[in-house]
Amino acid sequence: MPKLPPDFIFSQASLQDFLTCPRRFYLRYLRRLAWPSAAGGESFEWEQHLSLAQDFHRLAQQKALGISDETLEPLVQKRSTELFEWWTHLCHYWQNAARDVLLGRRYAELTLTASLTNARLLAKYDLLVAHPDGRWSIIDWKTNRRRPAASELQNLVQSRLYPYLLVRAGTSLTGGQAIEPENVTMLYWFTHDPTFPEIIPYSREQYQADEDFLLRLIEEILGRQEADFVLTTDERHCAYCPYRTYCDRPFLPLSELNPEENAELLELSLPPDWEQIGEIEY
Ligand code: SF4
Repeated sequence: MPKLPPDFIFSQASLQDFLTCPRRFYLRYLRRLAWPSAAGGESFEWEQHLSLAQDFHRLAQQKALGISDETLEPLVQKRSTELFEWWTHLCHYWQNAARDVLLGRRYAELTLTASLTNARLLAKYDLLVAHPDGRWSIIDWKTNRRRPAASELQNLVQSRLYPYLLVRAGTSLTGGQAIEPENVTMLYWFTHDPTFPEIIPYSREQYQADEDFLLRLIEEILGRQEADFVLTTDERHCAYCPYRTYCDRPFLPLSELNPEENAELLELSLPPDWEQIGEIEY
């Protein structure tokens, strides 16, 4: 059994890392190697994108907490043209969706955790909305330069873990009242395609399937020996991976990759502290 830290909590980032490349999971969470900068000229672009994405998430959080646009907008304008464009899209969506998607009690940057078998799971939500009629919306802001296909989004660990944990651990928000899976919807909103968010409904069948999936995945990780955390056979994932120098993987010029895929690879390379803040215990 691998030696994960005793306080280790599985998140969508760590589980997705394992599915993308078991070696990356090993280097990041078992060896706990520091997050190195990706070597090569592409690292600047990567860091710029990451920094803007983090700024955007902070802005969306501040907006959800009720800080006025008049206060936020001058700061955004100073930061960058791209961020200002994302911000404008967000404000437009906020205004138009307010009567439905955003109507209700809002929880920005909230974290829920729960136990599953002998592991703990964590989800950090960009925005949760508890609607007056008992429905819940999980809203996730995506800054991908390419909108992933619906099937890609549905297959993300995030699309399974987030609704699952809301149903499992959300009673800490409702005073003990159960949240029915049928009342939960996951919504991905895209800075680069702001008019058409991806909406994924949830169900009791899916909740049970997700529990089985998460159980199997965690068992598989905990059952591996160190040597079993093999390198991915899909070397496209190595192009942006900051651990490339540890793996003796050849440098793959970005020009050899499909540019459409670059943003997705960037997203998959987000550092682990991307979703780490305080939590609500279940
Ligand atoms: S460089 Fe490639 S093989 Fe190595 S950890 Fe990263 S994705 Fe995995």
